Amino acid sequence: MSVEPMPSVTEATRLRPLIGDHPAARLRARGIETVGDLLAWLPRRYVDYESDLSAAREGEHLVAVADVTAVEIFPRDRRRKAVGRNAIMRVTISDGGTSMPVTFFGTYGRERTLMPGVRAVWTGKVTTFNGRLQLTSPDVEIVAEQRADDEPGLLPLYTHVDRLRNSSVIIAVRVVLDQIESLNDPVPVEVRERHGLMTRLQAFRVVHRPRSRADIAAAMDRLRFEEAFVLQVALARRRADQARDRTISRRPVADGVLAAFDARLPFELTNGQQEVAALLASEMARETPMHRLLQGEVGSGKTVVALRAMLAAVDAGGQAALLAPTEVLAQQHHRSITALMGDLADGGLLSFEDGVGAGPDVGTRVVLLTGSLGSAARRRALSDIATGSAGIVVGTHALIQEGVEFDDLALVVVDEQHRFGVEQRDALRAKGAHPPHVLVMTATPIPRTVAMTVFGDMETSTLRELPAGRVPITSHVVEASKPAWVERTWMRLAEEVRAGRQAYVVCPRIGDPDERAGAPADEVDGGGDWAVEDSDGSGPVDDAASASASVYAVHTLLVEHPALAGVRIAMLHGRMTPEEKDRAMRDFASGEVDVLVATTVIEVGVDVANATVMVVMDADRFGISQLHQLRGRVGRGSEPGLCLLMTATDAEPALDRLHAVAASTDGFELARLDLRQRREGDVLGAAQSGGRSSLSFLGVIDDEDIIVAAREDAVRLVEADPELAAHPHLSSAVQRLADEDKAAFLERG
Ligand code: ADP
Ligand code: MG
Repeated sequence: MSVEPMPSVTEATRLRPLIGDHPAARLRARGIETVGDLLAWLPRRYVDYESDLSAAREGEHLVAVADVTAVEIFPRDRRRKAVGRNAIMRVTISDGGTSMPVTFFGTYGRERTLMPGVRAVWTGKVTTFNGRLQLTSPDVEIVAEQRADDEPGLLPLYTHVDRLRNSSVIIAVRVVLDQIESLNDPVPVEVRERHGLMTRLQAFRVVHRPRSRADIAAAMDRLRFEEAFVLQVALARRRADQARDRTISRRPVADGVLAAFDARLPFELTNGQQEVAALLASEMARETPMHRLLQGEVGSGKTVVALRAMLAAVDAGGQAALLAPTEVLAQQHHRSITALMGDLADGGLLSFEDGVGAGPDVGTRVVLLTGSLGSAARRRALSDIATGSAGIVVGTHALIQEGVEFDDLALVVVDEQHRFGVEQRDALRAKGAHPPHVLVMTATPIPRTVAMTVFGDMETSTLRELPAGRVPITSHVVEASKPAWVERTWMRLAEEVRAGRQAYVVCPRIGDPDERAGAPADEVDGGGDWAVEDSDGSGPVDDAASASASVYAVHTLLVEHPALAGVRIAMLHGRMTPEEKDRAMRDFASGEVDVLVATTVIEVGVDVANATVMVVMDADRFGISQLHQLRGRVGRGSEPGLCLLMTATDAEPALDRLHAVAASTDGFELARLDLRQRREGDVLGAAQSGGRSSLSFLGVIDDEDIIVAAREDAVRLVEADPELAAHPHLSSAVQRLADEDKAAFLERG
């Protein structure tokens, strides 16, 4: 019998012939099919082989390697046999020195595996019984073999795979690692050496078979660097491509609609607004399309700046489109833009009694295009867009996805970036004969490294100051367990309304019409076609939603509350029809409604300057940035804003979070805190990269140094070798990343 030489193993090699049918099938169910997949599947945690049970403390969550030294089974009810649920299984485990009792209620076949001499990983909470520390019903993972002398000092624990032991995963990984001689490394040698990094293969060997925790840290740094580096190279190439793009220069004109708009603007632009405005004007005047991200505190006046850029585009003979993430926001923008523009938005039907800086042909039509337009209105809007008579078009993504034809699209403004990815920007670039200038506005301040990764192909501007005369908003945490505080909250609301002002009460879910406060239900507002909820993944926690305050229940509570007699209270949530929502917003904006009980649909962009109080019910169910965003809805005028964060929680971390929000009005600081607390993969994954697996090792906050260093190297390398001709492995890694992006984009549709 002749032995075929094994073809050499690469990351693309399929696992089955290497590790056998059963493990391969189990892993495949988890999406792990190739050598590369398995290597990238890092251990969830590590346990010391040399565990020390004597260090265990009551209340601690213990993870330890220990051997079974004795097993005893006795009946719970002495009159019956010690089998099944009536059996108590008492196992004694030992680390070689200290022993500890472990109790299981019921045997369930454990008696066949947990026998003296068996070594396992024990995971569970340490409790005291009869004055002794013990484990009750811990998780048990049998470590099939004794550790050999040359084995690493730490036992890797992988995420549980159905019907596959941890030890089988360890064996599979070992088999694979033993057969690999080298791996293609996208990080060039000189870059690796400059940073003293190990090779890709070395890093995988270490993370899967570590000798020490210090080794793991170094290996992880290497994997993170690679990830950051490949992404930064991709971004640097993208920027280089964009710099080669050509479009039409859109120069400002002296007596156009922008000048007329400025002349009637009821306030002075802040210095920051003026600087950004000048920058946008100069970038739009170039023949390279603008790609700019404008971020700024809630209420810092981004919309006005963007509108001025849109008017400049109109003056230059082009059109501007404003994309909003939801229908309600598109409507809101349409309303506020037409209000700000006044008769300049009538386009052609102008008559100026005061004649300020405008001739009769200055102005443009502002049209709204959303999915809920009737077919006649839609036809009219489409025609205005196609002929160019609509200079400004406001709408949702449908605007760029469907067969909407622009006469001459000069500028696209994207509001609230959450759902707008690189691929969509590409779709846009393809919209006209000349790629439009692009301005992305985000209301959530973005930490530097997120700007460098998620928005790494754009230049960034920041509005830091708020318009003069703004009084900073004050926030307090209100403990719902103290009835006097809760009552005081409603009194405060009533006082504010009596003083002529308005209030929001935000609830984590919608609930049902016949529901009253405190009654359980189970629906979180999905928002229908305009789901703002969960837009950044930090929305209401649905598993806990059962007992949380609902819009309906709180509405009823307030309507019946004696302190609020005569106060006009309305609702706004995602299960209302578009007309109902629009009407609720209009009534609130016009002051016909005093208190709006709403879900987080009001989170972004809603702008009613007379609203001064916001009460957030069950505030612990919202993320930090989301709360900051929400409270940005009040204190937008000259009156001081007040935000009351009501909570029934006594969980320490949740309360800390709320107090942090109450204590700071710095959106950047809060955004960092927020990212720290959340699984960053979620933030980037869900929001931007459509769940692609890259950035899986990288933490955008904690790995700032790595990201900055990787960016410098990437820029240098792309400058020297734009086509990556000398770096084929890097080139294919960049290509893979692009393919994943594309796949994720196509999946989202
Ligand atoms: P953002 O979009 O950044 O949250 P907006 O552009 O919606 O902020 O502005 C918030 C409010 O402040 C709006 O009512 C807007 O008209 C007003 N505003 C904008 N700039 C100024 C300014 N320079 N002075 C006074 N008010 C301003
Ligand atoms: Mg805004």
